[in-house]
Amino acid sequence: MTLFELALKKSQILTPKPVCKICFKTIKCRSLLTFFSTRPSLCQECFRSLNYSFSHSTLNGYKIMSLAEYKPPLSKLLIQYKENRDVELAPIFLSYYSGFLHWKYFGFSVVLVPSSPQKMKEREFDHLELIFKYLNLPILKILTKKDGQEQKKTSAAQRRLVYQKINITRGDTVTGKKILLVDDVITTGSTLKACLNLLKKYRPKKIEILTLMNASPLKEYEK
Ligand SMILES: [Zn+2]
Repeated sequence: MTLFELALKKSQILTPKPVCKICFKTIKCRSLLTFFSTRPSLCQECFRSLNYSFSHSTLNGYKIMSLAEYKPPLSKLLIQYKENRDVELAPIFLSYYSGFLHWKYFGFSVVLVPSSPQKMKEREFDHLELIFKYLNLPILKILTKKDGQEQKKTSAAQRRLVYQKINITRGDTVTGKKILLVDDVITTGSTLKACLNLLKKYRPKKIEILTLMNASPLKEYEK
C-alpha cells in the first residue's frame, strides 16, 4: 500500500459516509444532485419520494415561492419534526435545494415567522431557524408572537386576531435591506400578511416570501 492509499483509507475511516435521515441507508455520491450538496442528508430515492414542485404566487403584491405542496410524505415529516421534536430531520427540508436557494436569495436577510413562547418552550427549539439556517444567509430574529389560541382551532374571523399577536422589535434593522420572510406552510396567508404589515413600516428595499409548503397551490392571496 502506497502512502497515498494509506492516507486515502485513513480519511475514509475518519469521515464516515453520510447516512440518509429518512431511510438510514448510506448515501452514495453518484449524481450531480449529491455532488453539489456538501453534506447530503437524504438519499436520492427519498428525495424523489418527497415530490418537490416549486410554485409561485403573490401576497399583497409580494412574491411567494413554495417548494412543495402540503401533502405526505413531506407534511408528515414536518409534523414528526415539529411535534415529536425530531431535530435530526431539520436539514432534509431544504434538501438538495439549499445551495440553489442560497444563490437565488443572495443579498437577502432572512426574517422568521415567529412561534408563540409557549410553543417554543414545548419544542425547545425554533423549528424555522433550524430549517432555514441551511440557506446560509443572515437571520434577523425581530418578530415575536404572544401566546394565544392555536391558529388551526380558530375561525377565519378569529384568525384575523393574529395581527394583534405579532410584534416587531428593532424594526429599523430591516430599513433599506432585502428581506426574505420565511415560514413552513402557507395556508390562508393571514400570519404572513401580519408579518408583512409590520415589516413594511420600516421600509425595507424589497420583501420576498419563501415557504416550504403550500396548502393551497396556485391560490391568490390578494383578498
Ligand atoms: Zn433514503
